[in-house]
Amino acid sequence: MSRNFDVVVIGAGPAGYVAAIRAAQHGKTVACIDEWKNKDEKNAFGGTCLNAGCIPSKALLESSELFHRAKNDFKKHGIKTGEVELDLATMQKRRASVVRELTGGIASLLKTNKIECLVGHGKLLAGKNVEFTPVSGGVEAIEAKNVILASGSSPIEISIAAFDHHNIVDSWSALEFDHVPDRLGVIGAGAIGLELGSVWSRLGSKVTVLEAMDDFLSMADRDVAKVAAKDFKQQGLDIQLGAKVTATKVTKNGVDVSYDDKNGSQSIEVDKLVVAVGRRPHTDDLFSGDAGIQLDEHGCITVDDECRTHVKGVYAVGDCVRGPMLAHKGSEEGVMAADLIAGEIAEVNYGAIPSVIYTAPEIAWVGKTEVEVKESGRTYKVGSFPFAASGRAKAMEQISGMVKIISSKDDDEILGVHIVGPMAGELIAEAVLAMEFSASTEDIQRTIHAHPSLAEAIHEASLAVDNKALNFPNK
Ligand code: FAD
Ligand code: NAD
Repeated sequence: MSRNFDVVVIGAGPAGYVAAIRAAQHGKTVACIDEWKNKDEKNAFGGTCLNAGCIPSKALLESSELFHRAKNDFKKHGIKTGEVELDLATMQKRRASVVRELTGGIASLLKTNKIECLVGHGKLLAGKNVEFTPVSGGVEAIEAKNVILASGSSPIEISIAAFDHHNIVDSWSALEFDHVPDRLGVIGAGAIGLELGSVWSRLGSKVTVLEAMDDFLSMADRDVAKVAAKDFKQQGLDIQLGAKVTATKVTKNGVDVSYDDKNGSQSIEVDKLVVAVGRRPHTDDLFSGDAGIQLDEHGCITVDDECRTHVKGVYAVGDCVRGPMLAHKGSEEGVMAADLIAGEIAEVNYGAIPSVIYTAPEIAWVGKTEVEVKESGRTYKVGSFPFAASGRAKAMEQISGMVKIISSKDDDEILGVHIVGPMAGELIAEAVLAMEFSASTEDIQRTIHAHPSLAEAIHEASLAVDNKALNFPNK
């Protein structure tokens, strides 16, 4: 006899495990199936985000930033140290233990919520039946009233630089290097390329990033991208734009990489090459041909605004559907799907999803860039405030960057907030909340911000929108 659940979730990344918890909070019987296996061959819940993405990368970004600051910035603060030395093995051990604690936390959260954790492969069949293949062997048929597909994504592999998992690697392997490569090549100057490039550059690698596009950080506001490009250059990150990789060759010394740019044919020799050219939805063997699920031209599971697939009672959330591949976007979709299953009204505000790149300086934004606002035809006003004029940033010795706010000329509604500078990833939360409440810049102008704080830069930028900045000359 097959087991029966109100909700079966396939995938326990940030989209799936959150959906499972919310469904259980609604009193549903829930099973969550996941097959993730770490490099030590142990299964773990938490998906890409916890095991190979957000969390390990942020652990290393933090450690490498501390190392870099201890070496370069402490003396400015009047702190003398002996020679600052790197102990990469301990740094990597800490990264692994942060991951272990958090993935263990997910497993116990699921159990506390009385969710059946099923370790193995899940496949949706016709009629909302799910075939579960445990890692321990055998096959089990499960009946579900509702199914949430949350199968995530995997790195895009390009034939010109196919992964050999030793010299040419994906982001997961690049998080687990056991020595600092002298010369590191990265293909792709997106979030992964910049974050991982920063980690290894701070730890001593000579990093070259090859980006096919002519524009740097094309998804970000141009003013923000300009500041970031200048700072990365100063830090020694060599970012080559308009660089089309034409060939790679693994040699006994590493990898020879050939590429074309506006100056003609170029080549570099690196010890390791990280390919970070995006991720694609992971839907391998996720559903049978007669299950009724459809994919779009990008391989994403087709869903409507409420993450409903073409099959009644089957939802898909997170990286396997359209929209930005971000953990928090997936989690909110998971919550929405579970709330809808419980008969509640729920929605995701796709216009107010924050993006953060955790480099130094951090880059964060929400809403439209100035170019996008211009293209929309709406008349607008812009205000910005540099961290160089912020007392708190000065005290922190982190004065690079600025806050830029774009609001509409007609009703002053905030349309986009763009930050490059210290703690941008934390500061952006105020802007997201403001946009969620359809705030105007005047609302921020009239909000009291603590002094001295980095958040005052948001306050001043909102004042600057109306030429009322108090601590910096207006336009
Ligand atoms: P995933 O996290 O990929 O989880 C999917 C899970 O489903 C996996 O465990 C997989 O094994 C399982 N699965 C798939 N198919 C099946 C099946 N048929 N049966 C059983 N199990 C299955 N995002 C951010 O928002 N912030 C960041 O700072 C950030 N940093 C990142 C850094 C790196 C290096 C990378 C690679 C990504 C980063 N991301 C970041 C992106 C983020 O990791 C993803 O957006 C997020 O993990 C997507 O969540 P998900 O639940 O949709 O999928
Ligand atoms: P991405 O889409 O952010 O960037 C990929 C970059 O590679 C782009 O700039 C693209 O122009 C370039 N590119 C593509 N093909 C190329 C080629 N053949 N040669 C040279 N350049 C090429 O993808 P990513 O950095 O791999 O990250 C994958 C996903 O993970 C993204 O959706 C990202 O949002 C997410 N992520 C988020 C964070 C974060 O939120 N901080 C961190 C890491 C990853």
